[in-house]
Amino acid sequence: MIPYGRQDISEEDIKEVVDILKSDFLTQGPAVPAFENAVAEYCQAKYAFAVNSATSALHIACLSLGVGKGDLVWTSPITFVASANCALYCGADVDFVDIDSKSFNMSVVALEEKLIKAEKHGRLPKVVIPVHLAGQSCEMDKIYALSKKYGFRIIEDASHAIGGKYKNKAIGGCQFSDITVFSFHPVKIITTGEGGMCLTNDPQLAISLNRFRSHGIVRHPSEMTNIPHGPWYYEQIDLGYNYRMTDIQAALGLSQMKRLDQFVAARHNIASRYNELLQEEWLDLPWQHPDTYSGLHLYIIRVKKNKLGITQRQLFEKLRTAGILVNIHYIPVYLHPYYALKGFDCKEFPQAELYYSEAISIPMFASLTENELKFVVDAIKKPSGHQNLF
Ligand SMILES: *Cc1c(COP(=O)(O)O)cnc(C)c1O
Repeated sequence: MIPYGRQDISEEDIKEVVDILKSDFLTQGPAVPAFENAVAEYCQAKYAFAVNSATSALHIACLSLGVGKGDLVWTSPITFVASANCALYCGADVDFVDIDSKSFNMSVVALEEKLIKAEKHGRLPKVVIPVHLAGQSCEMDKIYALSKKYGFRIIEDASHAIGGKYKNKAIGGCQFSDITVFSFHPVKIITTGEGGMCLTNDPQLAISLNRFRSHGIVRHPSEMTNIPHGPWYYEQIDLGYNYRMTDIQAALGLSQMKRLDQFVAARHNIASRYNELLQEEWLDLPWQHPDTYSGLHLYIIRVKKNKLGITQRQLFEKLRTAGILVNIHYIPVYLHPYYALKGFDCKEFPQAELYYSEAISIPMFASLTENELKFVVDAIKKPSGHQNLF
């Protein structure tokens, strides 16, 4: 079996975690701030807050930007459901912006058209959440310019993209956004088991992200409403959550950070091999915008209409039967029954619809071997003689 993604855990990673298990703190000790500092420094962001998942990170990012009932949040339809659910957790409404046909990221053209219409109807979004699909940054300079013109805030869902760059700067530096979110789920570029992080350069947002991840409690007298009752005193001043990361997880994350550049470089080598070996007129390979250096979480091919009559579904089934655990990233969010109830019109998203009928994510992870890679390539290219498999 070859999965589409897999974590890479070294002996050193294991030792770092075991050291924490033998230490005084399993949570709220020194490992979490050490991990946060390492990521903030790598990304050149002023503040970083580790949490227990990217889903939690997206939730507190929305809360910190004041998303609430009656507000509107826009994201890409080609994403994991968490990019949209975060707005619903806050009582806001969600809408989607169609994708670009080449990058599969939120289309800036579609975004601008939708903003013009929304302004006419007096229903502009409060927050837009561009998703860096497969690890490739969205066109953040253009989205940022639109945010200034139309007055919305930006959360980058960079769950796929740690280790990637945009205009030669590390993704996560929030140069063109208010908050950036990373995921450390095992299929992503680095892992903490479960885990996520919010990065920002804004001191006000930093205070509020920190509060929301831990019950809305404050411990410094300057943040309190009352005069402290005594040295034991703390106050809850907002309704927060327990979204904290443990020191056990942070130790793994910190150890993984040391190999982040290696992981991404290995992913680029694998992508180059696929690019060489999968030159077929019926396949579209991932296009890279010249402003980007992708984290390459995913390698997404598109099965175009072809004389051989091979469809996306046939190729998908053939690869799964061969033990290659390909996947589709993603089912357009508006097609999920929970969202469909809200009455989205799929005709509004022609590029997302076409993408969903063509895309397949093939195995992409740092430890994929040359033999495994060749096996995947052969399975894709083998003439469709295996009628019995279809
Ligand atoms: C994985 C992922 C998430 C959620 O991450 P978790 O850490 O599993 O909560 C959110 N958005 C995107 C685009 C993802 O791929």
